[in-house]
Amino acid sequence: MSENTVSGTVSVIGLGPMGRAMAAAYLDAGYRVTVWNRSAGKDEDLVARGAHRAATAAGAVAASGLTVLSLIDVDAMYTALDGAALDGRVLANLSSDVPEKARAAAAWAAERGAGYLTGGVTVPPSGLGKPESQIFVSGDRGAYEQHRAALDVLGGTDHKGDDPGLAQLHYQLGMIMFWTALTGWEQAVAVAQANGLTAADILPQAVETSDSLSGFVRFYTERVDAGEHGGQVDRLAMCAASIEHVRHTAADAGVDTGILDAHVALYRRGLAAGFGDDSGTRVLQLLREPAGSAAGA
Ligand code: NDP
Repeated sequence: MSENTVSGTVSVIGLGPMGRAMAAAYLDAGYRVTVWNRSAGKDEDLVARGAHRAATAAGAVAASGLTVLSLIDVDAMYTALDGAALDGRVLANLSSDVPEKARAAAAWAAERGAGYLTGGVTVPPSGLGKPESQIFVSGDRGAYEQHRAALDVLGGTDHKGDDPGLAQLHYQLGMIMFWTALTGWEQAVAVAQANGLTAADILPQAVETSDSLSGFVRFYTERVDAGEHGGQVDRLAMCAASIEHVRHTAADAGVDTGILDAHVALYRRGLAAGFGDDSGTRVLQLLREPAGSAAGA
């Protein structure tokens, strides 16, 4: 039986919207909750509901076997927990960051005798604890098994492996798709607005297009994993022409084309490489051999 099942205690460090929702979920579930936030004033509703306010982050860690961190990034943990006694504690850092930072943080915690789990939350604060809520977790499997019941209060946890970077990798894979798709919608709305339409005018079309993506992803997944890039129905040359039309439509509307320029450049590279008769998925090869990154390392 886990420590939290026995004691029902948990600490939450970081009370932005996500940390507050986490602490509230634990209060709802009957846990004895200790909270700490760098700035004052974010814990009042929680304290009114029975949460204990720790004077320091170290005090929050001392109060519970499991401390959940919900901070802006992994680096914030180092300043928050500077000097805290961590030996024998378990930290579940559910702050988003990159895999390498998660690995370094796990090593930092291990040097101080703490168990460390890294996690990525895939839902907004309002989605915590709901059936669709999913949290990627990785790292110390013993700590995970010990505190799984407590972590599952926040959502279905999916332990991705012992490498503490894996949870953030899976989280970032989702974010790559999310941000590019959402920016695509924003680009479409900007063009619509420039043509006198509103976001609401194109909502049915936006929803239909978003929903259709899952079918494309399912169709392409098996082919891509098998290394099949035949262009029987989706020649890269056709995709390139379509993307040129997209860019042209945005430019004609006076809308910024920076994102679309990059898209066009990628498919032009595909044509230059002689992939015109292959499937558009041949760009995967180009994405893995970058021509140069504008964003830098
Ligand atoms: P916020 O940016 O609103 O809150 C960040 C928290 O980090 C605050 O409590 C802030 O303290 C604290 N913090 C920042 N820097 C430091 C520092 N140097 N030392 C100590 N504390 C620090 O974020 P959210 O609550 O929205 O999100 C928290 C995490 O959850 C993020 O990693 C985010 O990516 C992830 N997440 C959020 C989602 C969302 O929809 N909100 C969805 C999925 C994941 P202070 O109040 O003093 O500024």
